[in-house]
Amino acid sequence: MLKQNYPIVWDLDRFYLGGSSSSALQQHLDEVKVKLGNFEVNIKKLEVPTAVQEAKQISHTIEELRDVAVNLSEASAVIGCYLAQDTTDKKATLLQGEVGSLYARLSSLMNTIQQVFSKTEGTVWEELLKTDELSQFEFVLNEWRENASKMLSEKEEDLITTLEVDGYHAWGQLYDMLVGDIRIKITIDGEEKSLSVGQANNLSSSDKAEIRKESFEALELAWTEKEDFIAKALNHLAGFRLATYKKRGWDNVLEEPLSINRMKQDTLDAMWGAISKNKAPFVEYLNRKSAMLGEKAMHWYDLDAPVSSSTEKMDFQQGAEFILKHFKEFGPKLEEFSRHAFENGWIEAEDRPNKRPGGFCTGMPVSQESRIFMTYSGTMSNVSTLAHELGHAFHSYALRPVHWMNTRYAMGVAETASTFAEMIVADAAVRESKSTDEKIALLEDKIQRSVAFFMNIHARFLFETRFYEERKEGIVSATRLNELMEEAQREAYGDALDTVHPHFWASKLHFYITDVPFYNFPYTFGYLFSLSIYAKAKEEGTGFEEKYIALLQDTAVMSVEDLAMKHLQEDITEEAFWKKGIDLCIQDVQEFLQLTNAKG
Ligand SMILES: [Zn+2]
Repeated sequence: MLKQNYPIVWDLDRFYLGGSSSSALQQHLDEVKVKLGNFEVNIKKLEVPTAVQEAKQISHTIEELRDVAVNLSEASAVIGCYLAQDTTDKKATLLQGEVGSLYARLSSLMNTIQQVFSKTEGTVWEELLKTDELSQFEFVLNEWRENASKMLSEKEEDLITTLEVDGYHAWGQLYDMLVGDIRIKITIDGEEKSLSVGQANNLSSSDKAEIRKESFEALELAWTEKEDFIAKALNHLAGFRLATYKKRGWDNVLEEPLSINRMKQDTLDAMWGAISKNKAPFVEYLNRKSAMLGEKAMHWYDLDAPVSSSTEKMDFQQGAEFILKHFKEFGPKLEEFSRHAFENGWIEAEDRPNKRPGGFCTGMPVSQESRIFMTYSGTMSNVSTLAHELGHAFHSYALRPVHWMNTRYAMGVAETASTFAEMIVADAAVRESKSTDEKIALLEDKIQRSVAFFMNIHARFLFETRFYEERKEGIVSATRLNELMEEAQREAYGDALDTVHPHFWASKLHFYITDVPFYNFPYTFGYLFSLSIYAKAKEEGTGFEEKYIALLQDTAVMSVEDLAMKHLQEDITEEAFWKKGIDLCIQDVQEFLQLTNAKG
């Protein structure tokens, strides 16, 4: 078979020729500004609907909103890609600021629309939602109305949105700049190297103990040097959020993330409850692993260490073929779609300096394409990340026929498609293993994912909820942030850790994302939710793909509780639902413990 040669650098010229100084991009942004300006004029004239005959007018407003929103997010997504591929791209930084102000204006218009709609008299509202024009938007429109009722006056919300650009989102951007600027000095095989944070993070899975330890310590040192700056960014970002909540009369910091995720507190409690009660097998796994590494207890810097020498590396082309082969076993559409993404430069995977750390998938709604960003170094975990991001892109693809209003899904379900794709690849890898050693390595890769969702992300959640409580009383110092993180990690890892990572709060980008608060529990939700879907998919074979797509198409038009009930017939406010998913992960641990029994 001819070896494929998929591009390892993405194609962004397809959107606007010439990168961040593209005249086509500038022209597009100018057009967006004109559209936005016109829309602002129209919204000023918007009146509270008083009769069912106004459905046509409302539908027209929605179309205008859609037009501005998709064009703005097209530009914004591409600019985000420019910045990710080169954190020193100054022009892109400027454009990001420009787009930020446009978003603020759009968001303020959305507030106005929501406020005006929310004043509609109840019976008229009910009638409107039954019309041909609006019935398809029932869930979203009701959500708008409900959200508006929890907000301050239109004027006050408008002021907050305007101030967010410089007083809120800018803190997150400052954090990105600080991290992009950090260089990690480390000696590898006698050679001194200067690495980006992303490159240094990748050393956590090195097979050499001293490299893992050294890079961890070099990173901790770098975070310590910058801790006061980063703590300031975190404190003010959180302070802005809390001040806004206080003005709105929201006491619970989880109110907003739960509402964004269309999730009940009962569901979140049931999920963490089930996880907390089932940590023992994972603690046992960590103990076994540290013993296999010749240590008495687990160190943070050994968490990603390979436990088997036979951990195969796959170059990018091999990784791509592996993913495609196994996506195909699940369903033809996922495979076809992903092949298209590989062939057409949708993926940026090259390992080179000045790239942002981490991975993401972003959608360009006008072109109806996505772009995936990561730094690929050939580990199984890189292959998983790639599959994960392709899952996100597939979700956008599944939503192509759905109206923009009904595509705005929340984090929790957003991670469902990605985790699902990741699981197909991880399971396949275990199944295809050719030796016990390889099987151990691959099982471990799966278990590490469970550890990440049940322990690492749990620690982030515990840290963040506690940090926000303390922040209500005033500024939280870097020293205190370190303490809070250490406590959270010890608890979430069931006391299995010896060395912890106190500066994790500084190193994790997710705490600095301003678009979505609490960028953590939805990951765990998505993982366990995915496991149930995955279990059904395995039962039903390739025929399941159509049902899967139907579920994805419903992800933005109902609560997660209703979604689970409709497509999985499950009550997710009960711990029992979550326990089923956790049990699947415990099976991996049991198999791992058995296979490694002689090695401990
Ligand atoms: Zn994701």
